[in-house]
Amino acid sequence: MSTETRVYLRERRRQQRIERSSETAAATETQIARLAEPAFKDHVLTAEGPHWRCGRPDTGVYGFWLYAPAGAIMVWGDIGSFMLRHGSKDSLAWLAGAVRNGDPDYLLGKLCAADGAISEFKRGDAFRYIDEMVRGSGNAARWRAVRQRFHERLPHTYGNSEEANAFYAACHEHRADPCGAMGWASGPLYLWHALRVFARLHRRATHCGVCDRQTTNQNHAPVGAGLPPEPTCDACITPNQD
Ligand SMILES: [Zn+2]
Repeated sequence: MSTETRVYLRERRRQQRIERSSETAAATETQIARLAEPAFKDHVLTAEGPHWRCGRPDTGVYGFWLYAPAGAIMVWGDIGSFMLRHGSKDSLAWLAGAVRNGDPDYLLGKLCAADGAISEFKRGDAFRYIDEMVRGSGNAARWRAVRQRFHERLPHTYGNSEEANAFYAACHEHRADPCGAMGWASGPLYLWHALRVFARLHRRATHCGVCDRQTTNQNHAPVGAGLPPEPTCDACITPNQD
């Protein structure tokens, strides 16, 4: 193997590492789903005044609080601080529907504030887009030049927004239309899974554990992993004596 070939192959391997597909929106969603499953599985829901606490009884890790006035849902705790705004007076009914619909994009699209990044640039999606353009845009040379320039700029970036700027600048220099290449940051993706767990436990908290009728009893007993279902409707708490 010639020196030139070796240098070429080494450089190509380096480029492939930089382009690796784990830096895509889809890969981030899969990864956080895998991490969230064990993180939230032992959560217990407790009504505390106007708030709900959702977490493990023995630790605050991955625990959170939730407050749901008309038109908004506020979440804060170990998973971060978030505020969602929506058009419904009944926030908890809205949340149940948004979770049932199964689309994190719909629910997270209602985020109006967070203490960390809501979305972030996904380098793998940008490279995938460039590859598609090389193959299918009819202007392969231009898009190869964009990829080359993006690779040159990347080592000089620090942080997600500079990486994004390097991509947009590389496209701009070669008069190529960039894609957005944005995806949810990990904080909002954890929030999505936290709210799914909350909605499931909240349904149990507001329905009788014995007959499953919706209960008017506002003094909800804690519900969650390892706790037996409680009778919370008047009929099951005080069975007819006749
Ligand atoms: Zn009942």
